[in-house]
Order: sequence, then structure tokens, then C-alpha cells
Amino acid sequence: MAHIGIDLGTTNSLIAQFTENGPELISNRLGGVLTPSVVHVDKGHVHTGETAKSRLLTRPDQTVAAFKRTMGTEKAYRLDGKTMTSVELSAAVLRALKEDAETALGEPVVDVVISVPAYFSEAQRKSVAQAAKMAGLKPVRLINEPTAAALAYGLQDLSQESCFLVFDLGGGTFDVSILEVFEGVMEVKATAGDAYLGGEDFTRTLVKHLTGLASYKRLSSEDEAAIRKAAEDMKMALTQRDSASIEIRRDGLTLEATVTRAEFEDMCAPLLTRLRRPVERVLYDAKLRPEDLQKVVLVGGATRMPMVRSLIARHLRHFPDGHIDPDHAVALGAAVQAGLVGKNQALKDVVMTDVTAHSLGVETSKEVGNRLLMGYFLPIIERNTVVPVSREEYLQAIRPDQTEMVLGIFQGESPDVSANVRLGTLKVPLPRSRDGSLQHVSVRFSYDVSGLLEVDVITLTDGKRTSTTIRNLAGDMSEEDIEKARKSLEKLKIHPRDEEANIALRARIEQCFAMARQDDRSVFSNMLAEFDMLLEKQNPSDLAAFRKEAEACMNQFEASYVF
Ligand code: AMP
Repeated sequence: MAHIGIDLGTTNSLIAQFTENGPELISNRLGGVLTPSVVHVDKGHVHTGETAKSRLLTRPDQTVAAFKRTMGTEKAYRLDGKTMTSVELSAAVLRALKEDAETALGEPVVDVVISVPAYFSEAQRKSVAQAAKMAGLKPVRLINEPTAAALAYGLQDLSQESCFLVFDLGGGTFDVSILEVFEGVMEVKATAGDAYLGGEDFTRTLVKHLTGLASYKRLSSEDEAAIRKAAEDMKMALTQRDSASIEIRRDGLTLEATVTRAEFEDMCAPLLTRLRRPVERVLYDAKLRPEDLQKVVLVGGATRMPMVRSLIARHLRHFPDGHIDPDHAVALGAAVQAGLVGKNQALKDVVMTDVTAHSLGVETSKEVGNRLLMGYFLPIIERNTVVPVSREEYLQAIRPDQTEMVLGIFQGESPDVSANVRLGTLKVPLPRSRDGSLQHVSVRFSYDVSGLLEVDVITLTDGKRTSTTIRNLAGDMSEEDIEKARKSLEKLKIHPRDEEANIALRARIEQCFAMARQDDRSVFSNMLAEFDMLLEKQNPSDLAAFRKEAEACMNQFEASYVF
């Protein structure tokens, strides 16, 4: 069975397969590899791709583009008397991709890996999975777009140790990720972005400017579409040249304008500021400086704009690497991921890890004055934590006579839970307190690559466990897959402090401390303190790095030890 990856883009969608020669794009019915993510409805018939795109101008009221932006919302589009949601519109594009790939490959296409912006919430991811199912596909995995892009670029570099930044500016979304390749393992260190910023916004800036220069009485939807098309053409032209001119003469609308690249860049200054923020945040989260990066990789059509490239060169002090077409990287990487899921032989040495894009946690209360206020967010798994991960926190009941704790489970970055996304609620029965003291519970969150979140709450006085599983939402998991994922999460649930290897390491440090004298003693007591702090933080990669360093130091000490 072919290993298929799909990039469901805001502007264009692509489908690729993993072959023994690496990932390859599959051409559509028109022989191209970019299928416009546009839907046109005519007398009940649904058209997609180039056919639909060509109607954007002539039949704007029956045609829709950029609907990926409204994934996960209730928005419905009215097209020639037919109401369609963004899930249904995406399903139409996916169905066309599936049919084209089936024609090209001569076999059914069902299992696919689909890319999504790293910044998509669980609800938005669920919408993508739903669209895939509607199109007759089985989404075996959803992969973050920058991770996919890095996979397309990173394969060639796996032998070298490197750290790179993926700058992905598509039609409607912006994602930045930092990935590290180390001993054949590719790890996402951090990701940030803006789900409402993309090439479209640069076009809109020009649309606003051009509309201001146009003479008209009332703009019809056809007039608006004509200005939009002129703006889009002008934007593309300004990538190639220092200035561009357009002219529109229609009944009731005249527009003649010349814009220089410098003027366009001035108009876009607020957008460039918005591009900088996620870049700064991702470096901060990954604890890196621009000079620590080996490479900056570009993804998404809008990274072709010279102002975006010079922003990167200025702030990251790197000339971006673009040896893969920025429009192709995500689909190629999704196909590589499909090969990984399908355990393709050529990929057996590649290991991928990913991070959580959002923080996961629970609602807590805080005592303010002598009043108890609810609604505070306590993150348990912080954003950008490498998955799979399992973390524990302790909570206290509010009153001694409390018989139940109702735990709201949330995803997001706001300190106020109402601004975050509610994933579920867990009701935990509490044993009656005998001595009037408050009950305590431990809350453990375990999260895996396929997006399965397990929440286990243990009441400390009687050791009773209450659990819930929040399924992603991401792929389409069968009961069997869920059981498998749950079993592997089970292994993670041991607190690192209780893991065999860590117990042994702590004992060895204590032993070295006992053997050492004077200055050496402080080395080992500091080592113990650092180890305890890392055990508390429960970050597996930090712990692994610490273990390696501590063992090297102790080996040296033991080898040179004189009785
Ligand atoms: P994507 O969603 O990755 O296909 O990105 C598409 C976005 O890139 C759209 O907003 C396009 O207008 C923009 N884009 C594509 N090519 C160019 C170009 N040569 N110059 C400026 N923007 C471009």
C-alpha cells in the first residue's frame, strides 16, 4: 500500500507518496502538483481546484477560497443555494486529491497523513480529521506543518548534529518551529505562531490601498473580486520587480495604480512586526540565540517575498535555505511521515519526536482576601514539552466536608480558564475527612504522539484512582490503537524519581559524595541538588542529558580516586 501524505493548504493543497527514492509529489488531473483549495458550486454540482479558482473572479458569490481559516468554527458558506461548512469544503478538496492520486497510482488511497498548522487547537484538528473521513480517507496521523517541512529537509542531514528553524508563512497561517537533529533523532524543541497571519494579509493590505485609489459609486462583489485579483498579481510582481502597475476599467469602476516595492513594504510594517513576535518567542522557549541555529528553512508561498527574506536575514542573521520549493516541503514531509507510520524500510533509522503546541492543565481556585475565586488555569504539561510525556501535580480540596472535586481540563495559554479551550471534566469522589483536614489529590496528565490525553487522579488518603481519557481528536484511532497507546503511556506514568535508572544514579552520586573530600564534595552535593530539581521537572530529555554528563564526571572521579 502506498504511503500517502497530504498538505491541506489555505491556498493550495498537495498530495505526495513515499517511494524507495524518497518522497514524490503526485500530479493532479491537470498535470500540476498544486490543487487550489477553492470550491465552486453550480446548480448543485461541486467543483474544486483550478476549475473553481477560475470562477473566483467571474462567480465570486458561488465560489469560496481560504476556508481553512474558519476550520473549527461554526461559519457556514452559502454557495448557489447550498450551505457548506469549512469541514465540507475541505472534504471536497480532499476528495479531489484522493481521486487524482488513485488515478495516478492505480490503487485505492485510504490511509493518509495530513498536515495541520502547529497552532491548530484540538477542535480545529478534529475538523480536519472529520473532513478526511467525509472524503473517504482514514487520517492515520495529523502532523504539524513545520515538523513535516523539517522532515522533508532534515532527512539529508540526519547524520549531522544540527539545530534549525522552520519559518512557515502560508496563505493564512504562520508557524515557526525550532528542531534539533541529534544522533539520528529529530526533536521539535519549540513551536510558536499566529493562526491569523499569512500571505492573504499582505494581499488585503494592497486591496485596501488600491480601493482607496479607485473611483467608483458602489462596489459590486465582481468589482471587489477584480481589485483583489489585481492586488494578488501586484503582490507577486513586487516579489520580482521594484515596482508594479495595474489598470482596471469596468462599468462603474476605474483604477490605475503604480506601487513600488518600498511603498508596499512600508504599508506592511505592522505585519512584519507581527512576524517577529513568534520568532522571538520560539527562540526564548528553546533557550537559543540566533547564532545557535545552523539553518533557517522556508516554507509557504509568502516566504518568497523579499521583505520576509530580509527580515529573516536581519533578525536571525541567516540566509534562508530554500533548496526545496517552499510550496512542496510540507506535502513531501507528510509523505515521509506516512512512510514512518507505515515503517518503510528506507526510513528505519529515523526517529521523530514532537512537542505539545499548547499547555494542558486544570482549573483551580485561588484565595483572594478571604474569598475563594475559581477559574484560574494551572498548567500541568507546559506548551512545547516533548511528547510522549507524563507529569504530576498536587491539588487540595476547598472545604473539609467536600465529597466531590469537579476538575475542569483545559488547553491554552491564558491564566483565565474561560479564555482557554475546555477538553473535558472529571468528577472525583473524595473520602470523608475524619479530622477536618483538607483532602489532597495527585493529578497526572499523560499525553502521547497520537494526541491521547489520559488524566489520572489519586486521592491521597485512600489511594483511590479516578481516570478519564480524552481522545484526540487528531487521527482516527480504532479502539485497538487507543488501547496500544494507553499501554505505552502506562509505562511513562512512573515518576522519574521512582525509575530504576534514576534511583541507581542517585545512589551512585551519594556514593561519590561519601568517597570525596573537600572541593570534590561540593561538586557532588551540587550534582545531587540539580538532579533533584530535574527529577521534579520531569523532562526526559533534560534528565537524559544530565545523566550523560553526571556519569562522565563520576567515571573520571572514580578512575582518578586514590584511597
Ligand atoms: P501557501 O498557503 O503556502 O500555498 O502560500 C500561499 C501564499 O503565498 C499566498 O498568500 C500567495 O499569495 C503567496 N505567494 C505565492 N507566491 C508568491 C510570490 N511569488 N510572491 C509573494 N507571495 C506569494
